[in-house]
Amino acid sequence: MATSTRQTNAAAEKPEEMKKHRLLIGGNWAEPSTGKWFESMNPYTARPWALVPRSAKEDINRAVAAAKAAFHDPAWRGLTATARGHLLRKLADLIAADAERLGKIESTDNGKLIAEMAAQVRYIPQWFHYFGGLADKIEGRVIPIDKPGVFNFTREEPLGVVAAITPWNSPLLLATWKLAPALAAGNTVVWKPSEFSSVSALEFGELFERAGFPPGVVNIVTGFGNEVGEALVTHRDVAKVAFTGGDKTGEQVYAMAARGIKHVTLELGGKSANIVFDDAEVEEAVKGVVSGIFAATGQTCIAGSRALIHRPIYEQFVEKLLALAKTAKMGNPLETSTQVGPVTTQPQYQKVLDYIRIAKEEGAVCALGGGPAKRPECGDGWFVEPTIFTGVKPEMRIAQEEVFGPVLSIIPFEDEEEAIRIANDTMYGLAAGVWTTSIRRALTMSERLAAGTVWVNTYRAVSYMSPFGGYKRSGIGRESGIDAIREYLQTKSVWIDTVGKAPNPFVMR
Ligand code: NAD
Repeated sequence: MATSTRQTNAAAEKPEEMKKHRLLIGGNWAEPSTGKWFESMNPYTARPWALVPRSAKEDINRAVAAAKAAFHDPAWRGLTATARGHLLRKLADLIAADAERLGKIESTDNGKLIAEMAAQVRYIPQWFHYFGGLADKIEGRVIPIDKPGVFNFTREEPLGVVAAITPWNSPLLLATWKLAPALAAGNTVVWKPSEFSSVSALEFGELFERAGFPPGVVNIVTGFGNEVGEALVTHRDVAKVAFTGGDKTGEQVYAMAARGIKHVTLELGGKSANIVFDDAEVEEAVKGVVSGIFAATGQTCIAGSRALIHRPIYEQFVEKLLALAKTAKMGNPLETSTQVGPVTTQPQYQKVLDYIRIAKEEGAVCALGGGPAKRPECGDGWFVEPTIFTGVKPEMRIAQEEVFGPVLSIIPFEDEEEAIRIANDTMYGLAAGVWTTSIRRALTMSERLAAGTVWVNTYRAVSYMSPFGGYKRSGIGRESGIDAIREYLQTKSVWIDTVGKAPNPFVMR
């Protein structure tokens, strides 16, 4: 039973017991140049539980210098690709052995369910195994060049120092999506986790050293976006920015990176449609819609925050959906029976409540929830009731903007054409779900939906093997899957004369 109150939780986390973390720079655990730390909050208790270094530009400069030096150091640059792959696989084994502890840290830091965070961390080693395996399969080509007396081939080379900037919702998983291919390709990394959930990153840092990565190959600098994020993105020695976060921040990061002509990958927000047809297995579709929006308290980029329901089953579907959503067990995210935890940050909590107010003002009908959760098992944490709006019009803000919380908008549709039109009519294009038993419909919809991922009769499935990324304002580039490694490589074309006779120096050869 999730009946613990803030008092009982807070007692276990007296401020004097808070761990004071350090930065990882050049293989050393360093204090921030500012001499300042900030409190990381536990969303379940709304109390601080750890101290995170508040870094400044000076720390970014040190970290990038360490990453640059490591990039050129034979200890890393001179490793064979097979040896690099071996390091990644060693790291994978260390993560697997430490998964329960890391999952618990993530859950305490961001309030997402232990069931989810522990499962994510247990799955993370697969990315390091997969990309570790790819490290020595990065091959150039011999080009059958059209010019006699010349041998031409390509080399696939790492970019240099990669800046990895990550959000608070799945800190280690989303960093892994960048670190695994970046390291497999031979780059070095400066990672800046979210200021709201940095603790697991700093604990994770120890594993790189234990796996045997040379100092400076991975550096971790914590702090605020405007204080260190910008300094990292704009640093002249950063070759690539791999960013996951909100689209407004992504827009700024993209513009800053453009000024330095840097490589960029952006994984941004979404307003994904979960579309249920009248020929769907209704019970499964109900579960799919619930899991799309209330799992992780709606705090996932792929949240199915719009349920598009085929008119013939609309009433029946909404009734079943409400009945299931009402049973969601809220409470302590560290208890395995909890189904909906708190919102991760205080500003995000306020933002979710603001969107609920806006939806009501716009005329949407609140069919479930609609405010802060005052249940005893929620204590003083930042909990919002699972909320469902009916009567939502596609043009309303609640149907267009990313809430990033447990708030679902239900919109009816008449036919496939209308479903496609509504689903595609947002500025985002991260994911979509389709519930149907018709293979024709499944194929047609998956082709016509403007989204980087389309799930049919399932939702929220990801794998290290399958590309992930957004259409439109949801992002640029892909993470995971075999091609993701290309996001961390650049191609060099090498020309070798094979005849030893200089051609006319005044014309192009
Ligand atoms: P955010 O954009 O506020 O922050 C993300 C990161 O960017 C943080 O580390 C932050 O410190 C940093 N940052 C902030 N301002 C910066 C600046 N000016 N320069 C450089 N860095 C800066 O996002 P968030 O609130 O932490 O995360 C939630 C958002 O992330 C949601 O919009 C969600 O959809 C998105 N997200 C996307 C994916 C995906 O793969 N597409 C996955 C998870 C989350």
